[in-house]
Amino acid sequence: MSERADVVVVGMGPGGEDLAGKLAEKGLDVIGIDHGLVGGECPYWGCIPSKMMIRAANLLAEARRIPGIAGNSSVTPDWSVVAQRIREEATDDWNDQVAVDRFVKKGGRFIRGSARFIAPGRLSVDGTTVEAPKIAINAGTVPVIPPIPGLSDVHYWTNHHAIETKDIPATLTILGGGPIGLELGQMFGRFGVKVTVVEAGERILGPEEPESSALLTEVFEREGIVVRTGAAAEKVSMDGGDIALSLSDGSTVRGEKLLVAVGRRAPLAELNAAAIGVAADAKSLSVDEHGRVTDGVWALGDITGKGNFTHMSMYEANVVLHDILGDAGPVAEYHAVPRVTFTDPEIGSVGMSEKSARDAGIDVRIGNYPVPRSTRGWIHKAGNDGFIKLIEDRVRGVLVGATSAGPTGGEVLSMLTLAVHERTTVERLRSMIFAYPTFHRAVEAALDDLLSH
Ligand SMILES: Cc1cc2nc3c(=O)[nH]c(=O)nc-3n(C[C@H](O)[C@H](O)[C@H](O)COP(=O)(O)OP(=O)(O)OC[C@H]3O[C@@H](n4cnc5c(N)ncnc54)[C@H](O)[C@@H]3O)c2cc1C
Repeated sequence: MSERADVVVVGMGPGGEDLAGKLAEKGLDVIGIDHGLVGGECPYWGCIPSKMMIRAANLLAEARRIPGIAGNSSVTPDWSVVAQRIREEATDDWNDQVAVDRFVKKGGRFIRGSARFIAPGRLSVDGTTVEAPKIAINAGTVPVIPPIPGLSDVHYWTNHHAIETKDIPATLTILGGGPIGLELGQMFGRFGVKVTVVEAGERILGPEEPESSALLTEVFEREGIVVRTGAAAEKVSMDGGDIALSLSDGSTVRGEKLLVAVGRRAPLAELNAAAIGVAADAKSLSVDEHGRVTDGVWALGDITGKGNFTHMSMYEANVVLHDILGDAGPVAEYHAVPRVTFTDPEIGSVGMSEKSARDAGIDVRIGNYPVPRSTRGWIHKAGNDGFIKLIEDRVRGVLVGATSAGPTGGEVLSMLTLAVHERTTVERLRSMIFAYPTFHRAVEAALDDLLSH
């Protein structure tokens, strides 16, 4: 059996679904392939359900902040409400029929199966050959499962189990202090789970600014979450009903559940990417500014290695769409990639960190300002942790990166993303009017700090 189409989209994550649907609407014969659910990780096990959980947990945290500001409060968390909302409102109980129907209605053909390259322009999907002159890869990433002795013998959690759980454990160990582990860790902690985060690196949220790591460590410890850094997991075993993690410093951490969140990897071997000339040791599919991997092959989303975010997948889908259609579309730019870790405080950042700017040989000037010292931060009181950090290329006089941590850190980030994206000069930024008393006025104060150096 074999199938032919004008375009094949392998993996129907957020970008792949968007791309395949738009190409079909343009009248092209499009086959979309996915062995999982159409929509990918974000709506079923990623952004959307995790942010529903975080919304619930943040409500609990806000209610607990009432004393000293608005009276008294007593909070009784109920996880079953969250689990039900995720089933009913977010994931349709992990059923993608609506998304499949939407794609088919646009004129697309959908195949549920696993695709592997046989040769350029040719794939095998569970035994069926699928051919097309144009193939776009949106196969995402999967959790990295580190080769720790004993890990494969225990029933550990990935993000899928954490999102699907109907019951919360009494104790939870999280392996990995990156955005996924930290968001889910704080969220479960606020529902009463005793959480320990184990990070092998010297600080959590490693690639971000050290100030972000220090802030979250302090907030987590204040909330009763144990943060263990510089401690590599060496062995996993069962200890009674608990999963025991032996660490490199000789200590042991026990938890009813173990969430493995040490990073994500692109499924290049599963795709047999070597058949289109991708090196065996490649970690991602390198793309040019049009999203092209090689002749007739495009890639978008996590698999390009430009940032594991839904907004990147959607952004790259638009770039690939125009290149496949052959019209004058946008080319991809990566100097102002925004990212938000949805902890409380939210850690939003864009572009370069101070370290990456210095490593790139840029003569940097830094501006800082703590959110609690701003008028709005002071009014806000409990839960006002945060700061603004600006990184200027002193020679060009423009911001090349920024961090906005705070109660609405991800929203305040938008003006900094615009500034980095547009390469607006710091002098020009400082001349604008900042509404009083907003959280983003801390940006104005950080600009003053920067200009004073
Ligand atoms: C817990 C969690 C929280 C997150 N929160 C956020 C957030 O708040 N904001 C944000 O921007 N991002 C967030 N992300 C990341 C976000 O989910 C991804 O960046 C997003 O889904 C885009 O990924 P993608 O388009 O590359 O593909 P994915 O969504 O990963 O989809 C890839 C699809 O390809 C399919 N596939 C893979 N290989 C094959 C194959 N060989 N054959 C057929 N099908 C295949 C898979 O089944 C899957 O459906 C979060 C992720 C997690 C895990």
